[in-house]
Amino acid sequence: MKRLFVISGSSGVGKGTIIKEFLKRNPDFKLSISCTTRPMRPGEKDGESYYFISREEFKQGIENGDFIEWAEFSNNYYGTRKSNIQKALKTGENLILEIETRGALQVKNKIPQAVLIFIAPPSFEELKKRLEGRQTEAPEVIQTRLGQAERENKESKNYDYIIINDKIPNAVKNLEEIISQYAI
Ligand code: 5GP
Repeated sequence: MKRLFVISGSSGVGKGTIIKEFLKRNPDFKLSISCTTRPMRPGEKDGESYYFISREEFKQGIENGDFIEWAEFSNNYYGTRKSNIQKALKTGENLILEIETRGALQVKNKIPQAVLIFIAPPSFEELKKRLEGRQTEAPEVIQTRLGQAERENKESKNYDYIIINDKIPNAVKNLEEIISQYAI
């Protein structure tokens, strides 16, 4: 692994789109595939979007020390397997983790050279609009996620960089500028 970049941002902020666009333009970067206990959404594939595993398997993984970080988010577990990092160390790729803030801080504690980047919405109102427009979550789930967004915004003060996503192409450019300072 050359460098580890950790990218966080509240649901609906557009981080998935920004990262996808970044990876298209920078194919020498690899995105780590996380494990989750949440149900698969339409269009998602096991082993591509996530490794979808049961709560039992996840808990066993925690006990075995398989995860470099993990967190409970919206009543589901999410975590990054240590083996993802070890594989990237061997292949010498730049690795990106797209994870929530508590996991990101666990990574920073263990790997201080990791670069933490937070993607923020232009405003809370805008985030609410985007989440509702996405129509992938039930209203009560949206409410929980908005609460989490507030908490995550506060936690972003521990990050190395904050990108405000007003327009996707600008945010991608911003991300490239930040990453190019570190990645060779
Ligand atoms: P979603 O269910 O929308 O795919 O993801 C919910 C949240 O979990 C997002 O903030 C996403 O970044 C985060 N997440 C995804 N994978 C991981 C992981 O491996 N660890 C942690 N801590 N968070 C993750």
